[in-house]
Amino acid sequence: MSRRIVDSYRKKLAGEEGYVVKHGAALRIALCYPNTHAIGMANLGLHTMYELFNQLPDVSCERVFLPDADDLKEYERSRTPLLSLETQTPVRDFDVVAFSISFETDYLNMARMLQLSGIPVWSSERNHFHPLVIMGGAASFLNPEPIAEFTDIIAVGEGEILAYQLVDAILENETKDDILLALARIGRGFYIPSLYDVVYNDDDTVFDYIPNADGVPRRVGRALAAVNPKEGTLRRAIKRGEKELADFLIGQDIFCPSTSIWSPGAEMGDRLLVEISRGCSQGCRFCWAGYNYYPPRVVPAKDILAKAAEWRSKTNKIGLVSTAVCDHPEISTILRELRAMDYRITVSSLRLDQISEELLDALVESRDQQIAVAPETGSDRLRRVINKNLTNDEIVDICGAVFDRGMLTVKLYMMVGLPTETQEDLDEMFVLVERIKDRMLQAGKKFGRAGKIIPSLNGFVPKPNTPLQWDAICDEKELKKRIKYVCKGLSRIPNVDVRFMSARIAHEQALFSSGDRRIAKVIERAASLRGDIDRALRETNVDPAFHTSRDRSYEEFLPWSIVDSGLSFEFLRTEHEKAREALSSLPCPAVEKCTTCGVCPSTWLADAPPSLIQIQPAKVRQALAAV
Ligand code: SF4
Repeated sequence: MSRRIVDSYRKKLAGEEGYVVKHGAALRIALCYPNTHAIGMANLGLHTMYELFNQLPDVSCERVFLPDADDLKEYERSRTPLLSLETQTPVRDFDVVAFSISFETDYLNMARMLQLSGIPVWSSERNHFHPLVIMGGAASFLNPEPIAEFTDIIAVGEGEILAYQLVDAILENETKDDILLALARIGRGFYIPSLYDVVYNDDDTVFDYIPNADGVPRRVGRALAAVNPKEGTLRRAIKRGEKELADFLIGQDIFCPSTSIWSPGAEMGDRLLVEISRGCSQGCRFCWAGYNYYPPRVVPAKDILAKAAEWRSKTNKIGLVSTAVCDHPEISTILRELRAMDYRITVSSLRLDQISEELLDALVESRDQQIAVAPETGSDRLRRVINKNLTNDEIVDICGAVFDRGMLTVKLYMMVGLPTETQEDLDEMFVLVERIKDRMLQAGKKFGRAGKIIPSLNGFVPKPNTPLQWDAICDEKELKKRIKYVCKGLSRIPNVDVRFMSARIAHEQALFSSGDRRIAKVIERAASLRGDIDRALRETNVDPAFHTSRDRSYEEFLPWSIVDSGLSFEFLRTEHEKAREALSSLPCPAVEKCTTCGVCPSTWLADAPPSLIQIQPAKVRQALAAV
């Protein structure tokens, strides 16, 4: 074992507070983040799972990261197996190796980490002496198939619910086979790829997944942590002055996901991150995060503020994590109280239509945040296609409100290659950015300086379980041509600094997000070839266009259909048809008894045992910890 690696890990630990070292626990979990420590520590999912696992007395959970460049060289030179951070134990000596994967782009890193650990990458090559390999996180349940053959257990849904069931099954069953079967038979939350045979049609599309053991469900339901109160219900109760109902909803005792380890050396490690809500009501048709976290739910202000008070002695910086910050019914209270505590506030994303004056004021005051907004495209028509219900006039007004506060630099997220996109749509991007730039210069006169507009262009990648899942990605050459055209046009506008993602990267993302089980061999090969995906595709004889570049029919069995996200086929199809006609839809109302998309308790969650749909209340967790 390399002394240099051990020293480098101990140095990292010396700069942290709040990590846990437990000896003699019955179950040892290596919690792996498929990227470096600096990046991984900004991931709230990792913090949450670390806290949840370590709260259980029988469990000790340690972190493992992809080594950074210097450590990696040393690992390879010294042939040291990959080590955990806390106790520098070889990962292969843990009982469970659990990956938290938020982005498909990290699949190669995941395979590389298994290789570095000396654990066989393919689940079929592991036996009961090897750790159980588990994948969780948003990417893994959106479409588990590309990583299915690496994995013993895929967590389908949200960790707050699944962590406890997983630990129970492992501790209460003798053999690996018994554990896998027990989890599969729960029917929701755990997908065991080895318990399904995949059958293909003659044209190579998937025909079906056939369970190969008794009691294994044909589809695996998504487990949902029901952070109460539901956003819409509380918002209306507050608006209508229904104090009793509002108090009841606010008073519910819930788990508030937040930073659990203070790690100032990492990205965002010097601030408290708190998840204030999950999911988004707007239903933008390209957005996987919106649909796959339906229904939107919030953490009550009192729990967020309690965390903030607890951490104030450590930091004056707080990051509010949410896909829709201003949708929180108590956002005014949260901002007011955080400012009163003298916190500098940043937010993970801003939805243009919802930016409130008070949030803008708080962000300006924090002096810490570059405002990034997402018009997505320059055309009102195309925005209706993706159900982003905003006009160019509104976007210019909102940017104006930002500029008038002296924040003269704005980042604009935009996509190229959206379904039905025309030359006119692309040209409208120039008009929109020109208008925003003029508005910026006008505001700049007041402050005696000019700012900058930073359009950030991404190729559109169709995502599973969204209404655009049936669409092909724009052909690579064509996408490259369009990105070049837009970049060139925008670069001619003064005070504009364009950034873009290559068409190649968009196509790689599409392959990993929409592929089936056969993509695993590309991932494994590319990980061995240090990321050379082109060569891996050639060597494995996989045609990426089959997985990414054809429109799929409504009749096709989609590879990710093994997971029942709760969204009904009829809902997604209707939304897809409306996209084709540029017709917009209303947002998710987040109310009891709504059946619009199929997710809520009025539909499949109605039959779920309460433990599956309730986030683990703090009281229950405390009771568990005391047992
Ligand atoms: S069923 Fe209705 S309230 Fe529930 S997530 Fe779907 S649209 Fe929203």
